Amino acid sequence: MNTMRNIYCVGRNYRLHAEELGNAVPTSPFLFSKPTHALVVAEGQEIRLPGERGEVHYEAEFVVHLARPYEKGMRLDELIDRFALGIDFTLRDVQSELKKKGHPWLLAKGFPNSAVITGFREFPGEDACKQVDFSLNINGQQVQRGNISDMLFDLSTIVAFAADHFGLGAGDLIYTGTPAGVGPVKDGDKLELLWGEDLLGDCTIKLG
Ligand code: ZN
Repeated sequence: MNTMRNIYCVGRNYRLHAEELGNAVPTSPFLFSKPTHALVVAEGQEIRLPGERGEVHYEAEFVVHLARPYEKGMRLDELIDRFALGIDFTLRDVQSELKKKGHPWLLAKGFPNSAVITGFREFPGEDACKQVDFSLNINGQQVQRGNISDMLFDLSTIVAFAADHFGLGAGDLIYTGTPAGVGPVKDGDKLELLWGEDLLGDCTIKLG
């Protein structure tokens, strides 16, 4: 965990997800960040989320880990050493209120355990990752399925944007956005994140 630094997340990076929440499809990358305290590795344990603040939505995402500081022109496989799957947990009712007020999303996106991450795998390159769908099962039922080939902004665009606007260095994580199918979790739900047929991480929800 001590190799993790900044946690960047891409919003509205899949057309069908932007539309399901009634948002315009963006014309440039849309990023936000989470505190490192949000991070938790899903390894079968119970994960506590703040259920007293309205609906807590799951957002399953493809996550990359940066091996070194970004330099212009660097290839993705030089820059990214590992990937994982993650869940960008979101207090959806809180977020709706923040959006209305034009306030930042931190309260809705930055709470402890809001950045779930699975174990990492070696990054085989973007093309290889496009050959495999990722998915989220809840209590054995698939609720989200995505493929990074459907991202509105690809990995090269996202890393260049993040580096240009915020800086990008070794240990940084980027949650690359969620496909359609987001929804609320319930107390006791069992979540499984799959890369193709392979289980990369799982956890059980405790709404406290
Ligand atoms: Zn997200």
